[in-house]
Amino acid sequence: MTPLKQILLKEIAENGPMTLADYMQRALADPTHGYYMQRRPFGATGADGGDFITAPEVSQMFGELIGAWLADLWMRMNQPSPFCLAELGPGRGTLMADILRAANVLPAFSNAVQVHFVETSAALRATQKQLVPDAVWHDTAATLPAMPTLIIGNEFFDALPIQQYRKQINGWSPIVVTAEDDCLALADGENGAAPFSDALAACLPDVRQGDIVESAPMVEAAMQIAAQHIAAHGGAALLIDYGHAAPACGDSFQAMRGHEFTDPLAEPGLADLTAHVNFPLLAHIAERAGLTAAPIVEQGRFLEALGLSLRAQQLMQLSPGREMDIQTERHRLAAPQEMGSLFKVLGVAHKDMPMLAGFLPEAI
Ligand code: SAH
Repeated sequence: MTPLKQILLKEIAENGPMTLADYMQRALADPTHGYYMQRRPFGATGADGGDFITAPEVSQMFGELIGAWLADLWMRMNQPSPFCLAELGPGRGTLMADILRAANVLPAFSNAVQVHFVETSAALRATQKQLVPDAVWHDTAATLPAMPTLIIGNEFFDALPIQQYRKQINGWSPIVVTAEDDCLALADGENGAAPFSDALAACLPDVRQGDIVESAPMVEAAMQIAAQHIAAHGGAALLIDYGHAAPACGDSFQAMRGHEFTDPLAEPGLADLTAHVNFPLLAHIAERAGLTAAPIVEQGRFLEALGLSLRAQQLMQLSPGREMDIQTERHRLAAPQEMGSLFKVLGVAHKDMPMLAGFLPEAI
């Protein structure tokens, strides 16, 4: 049994069930035992100690294409200097390192950029410092500097706690975590009113009795802060994650350990817990803050629009012997049965910004 499970079992025995959101928060971010505080989550396989792999860790092409996207946007927004390039939840720092290397073809960009990281984990901050030594670290985006800002975030929002509610005949039951015989279990809590935000209420589909709705106040708060910063200082945000592009309900709470799905209640602190991201909600919050949201697109489509195939060809010519690997990387990033469809891309921008590249409507 993990130490955190022991602690949670005792707490629940003493105080009664805890909300799913509290459970997720503790499992991920407990200062001593939380998953992100102690584990090295990223790795290509379970064998190297990692639990999951993200797009920047799959291939350098991901960060290079985003670097080119950023450099192009920065040129078209009249090259503000200095400007803030902020990343939410940078993981190992790989994405930012690839972005900065790719954008180096534009020395004016490299001279103007100030890199800021929003990261909770001290262990990951240390890793990030090795790859991006000049970054400035923040606990939230609220302290980003007052200057034009381009924000990126890959698999950031999925890592924030959610709370589930089940629709009952009259009211909603919060999903809670209970304890029985050394096991944690999910149960329907007391029926009552659901404290959905106005933003979430505006993004719900038709909900029927028994359906689960996921609310994520921390996701909403983080998006709100980012959107307000851009509204006040100019710029844009590019947010990539797995989730749904249209209003949806249902249970998406999941756990991964060693590249396998596992029971999210079995080993708190040792497994990565996530939920799908509600992209219409993120877009709604941005629009409410006065930003323009581009249509939500699938990752595969977005990366192809940015030139993924071309970059793969270039790399294959530059690195003989790696052709198969590069093809595999491209496939993992963009094929519909891999990350291409499940992952979505949201672009939001200040009203004065030029159009964001890569968000072509489906028909074209
Ligand atoms: N973007 C990286 C890592 C994704 S994992 C990649 O694509 O590889 C999620 C990241 O968000 C980790 O760096 C984690 O420590 C960070 N994180 C999780 N919760 C956070 C929070 N509340 N505030 C800031 N960072 C957080």
